[in-house]
This record gives sequence, C-alpha cells and structure tokens, in this order.
Amino acid sequence: MIRRRLLSGAIILCLSACLCLGAIQYRAVRAWEECAVKLPIIMYHSILKDPKYTGKYVITPDQLEQDLIYLTENGYTTVTVQDLINHVQGTASLPEKPIMLTFDDGYYNNYLYAYPLMKKYQCKMVLAVIGIQSEKYSKTQETNAYYSHITWEQMKEMTDSGLVEIQNHSYDMHSLNKGRNGSKRKQGESSAAYEASLTNDLSSLQKLFQENLDYVPSAYVYPFGAISADSKSIIKKLGFLASFSCEARINVITQDPECLYLLGRYLRPSGTTSDAYFKKILKEAAS
Ligand SMILES: [Zn+2]
Repeated sequence: MIRRRLLSGAIILCLSACLCLGAIQYRAVRAWEECAVKLPIIMYHSILKDPKYTGKYVITPDQLEQDLIYLTENGYTTVTVQDLINHVQGTASLPEKPIMLTFDDGYYNNYLYAYPLMKKYQCKMVLAVIGIQSEKYSKTQETNAYYSHITWEQMKEMTDSGLVEIQNHSYDMHSLNKGRNGSKRKQGESSAAYEASLTNDLSSLQKLFQENLDYVPSAYVYPFGAISADSKSIIKKLGFLASFSCEARINVITQDPECLYLLGRYLRPSGTTSDAYFKKILKEAAS
C-alpha cells in the first residue's frame, strides 16, 4: 500500500515537473516569436527623369514618389540598419509594419531626386556608397545626374537630416573586370590573401567615412550580391553587424544577432505600378 502511494506520488511529481518545463519552454518560444518581425527590403539604384533610360536599375523620380505614397498610405514605416540593431539588442522595437528602402552605388541622382522625396514624405533611405567613386566626385565636384556619384559633403548633408543612413559598398571592389566578381574570393586565391584584400578594401572605406562624416557604417552591402563562404567571418571580424545580399526574400528579424547577416532584398525595376509591385512582395511579408 505504502509502495503504491509512493509510486503514484512519484508519477504525479514527474508529471508536474514535465508540465512545468513544457510551460517554460512554451513561454520561451512565444517570447522569441513575439520579437520576430518580418521585414521586406527594397533595392533601388539610379533615379533619372528621362523615361528612355528606365529599366532594371533605373526608375524615374515620379515612380519613386508613387512608391513612397503607396507605403505611406498603407501604413508602412521606413527603417534603417540602426533600427534593426536596436531591435536585436532589445533597446527599441521595430514598428508594426516596417520596410527598408536601400539605394545601391551612391549616385549623385539619389541626392538630386530621392533625398528631396524622402524629406517630403519623411521616409528613410539606406544608401550604399562605393568609396572610390565618391572620392573621385568629391575632388572633381562634377554633378551630372547620369553618372556622377555623391560627394562627402552631400553625404554629410543627407545624414544630418536623420533621413539617410550611409553604408559600405566597398572602396574599390565594385567591379567585374579586375579578376574578381565584386568582393568574392578569386579562384585559387588563398584564404589568407582573400582576407587581406577584403580587410584592406573595406577598412580603408570605413576610415574615409570616419574622417569625412565622423561616422562608421554598421553594414556591408555585397557588390552584385557576390558572396564567398568565408566572407561572413571576415565581415564580422571587421565589426560589421549586418550585411546585405541581392537574394529576393523576406527577412525575419529576431533578437538573434545572426539574423542581420545576408539580408534579402527585392530589386525595384521600372515598368510596374507601385500598387502591383508592393502587393506582390508585401503579401509574402503578411503570410
Ligand atoms: Zn552596386
């Protein structure tokens, strides 16, 4: 009789311990899910007025304005990399419907056409700058909408507005004809030589940002989305907290710092209305 009571007591104890552990685990999963936010990231390049130049990498200022109107009217809030870092570190939450607008290459036409629209609609943009190009146009001061890149001075004005966040798009690795595909490891290149090349290039641009803007970017935007297996560890070692790929997919931002590496992005080409373009992408974010 006593043995049976002891046995049933042990079973009850065991069951309640299991239930308790299950509840703790369930709460942990729930907490993790609650801080998981789906984030679409859009990838723009050049903005030009003449419709004959529009295509995969060029849209008109009117098209960009329509995008901003669509996002504003549909309750989206534009965020920066710093907002993602704050979310991961638990210092601030992301808004309910976040979206990130990235602009690659740092064209002068972004300063000319995109920046005034960001001010008009109070939207934020993330601008990925190619160091050697901005150095060149900071010297020549040539402001041609078709090919010039933004200067340090223009970058300073944009970042001071609080609406533009600058990121690193390599100093001089935005090329396909220097024996390397962007910042990807070359065939036959030793891992030590690759690490040295990537480190030299990226840190020289980080230094220029520090000198000219008194600011150091937190993200690396891979030129052409070309990535090597060992890029990630080098990027991390250099202190970057985030990186961007060109893979078209929705991101899930949690409190795991790993979720900020190789963020997916959707290219925004010309030729589709804002309504049709965003409905397709944002449906994925909502599912
Ligand atoms: Zn690029």
